[in-house]
Amino acid sequence: LLEINNLRKTFDELEVIQDISLSVKEGEVLSIIGPSGSGKSTLLRCATMLERMDSGTMSYMGELAVWTDENGNAVYAKSAQLKKIQNYYGLVFQNFNLFPHFSVMKNITDAPIHVQKRPKDEVYKEARELLKKMGLSDKEDAYPCQLSGGQCQRVAIARALALNPKILFFDEPTSALDPELTGEVLKVIRSLADLDITMVIVTHEMAFARDISDRIIFVDNGVIAQQGTPEEIFQSDNARTREFLGKYH
Ligand code: ATP
Ligand code: MG
Repeated sequence: LLEINNLRKTFDELEVIQDISLSVKEGEVLSIIGPSGSGKSTLLRCATMLERMDSGTMSYMGELAVWTDENGNAVYAKSAQLKKIQNYYGLVFQNFNLFPHFSVMKNITDAPIHVQKRPKDEVYKEARELLKKMGLSDKEDAYPCQLSGGQCQRVAIARALALNPKILFFDEPTSALDPELTGEVLKVIRSLADLDITMVIVTHEMAFARDISDRIIFVDNGVIAQQGTPEEIFQSDNARTREFLGKYH
């Protein structure tokens, strides 16, 4: 579904991502863990084209979005092609990024109606189903400021799902939440995994990552230090992996 090869990204002099390759298969749940500043968000931002990579290749659904020319510079596909590819993924941020002046319903339905140009009644119907799934049926007309952080994040997840992405990216979806609200958001994400929605999740919630992931990537200093099944990562002999995970006990 997603294939990234030899991704490099430098900020000023700092090589934040040095040659990362990864692929995500349909239905797979992949977690990305690693210390603060190791490049996890940058990796996600490059994968979702919020940030331009320096070099590498990237394709979604076998369609090339980025490749590298003979001088080693990233080349992005034409904008019509990129627009098409952007429909394949959705992104959920740490701070929800809801539109504060839109109701919950409008937050969810705005892009499907105005960007994807889908029929209104169909979009509303789907949005109501999503809100029900998120346990927010009674919040349709509420504004983000009237909701708890956990509720906001569930709206943000519904908003991403309303665009019918093939793959959903999460960047620390619970790190702005207190433990109680964290639990309710993790429960929702877990329910998505049960629906076979393909997900890439950057998280510091180790028990959650262990529980939900088919595969875990440990990023350290801009490289993949180790990757494997949750068992392989959590029972690893790798000294660096053990040191990192040790900080969570
Ligand atoms: P955290 O767990 O704290 O979210 P992270 O693994 O997501 O960390 P990144 O946000 O990807 O880390 O940052 C990696 C490095 O890149 C850091 O040293 C950061 O300061 C640097 N960096 C990130 N974005 C920029 C930017 N726009 N300009 C300059 N440097 C940046
Ligand atoms: Mg980050």
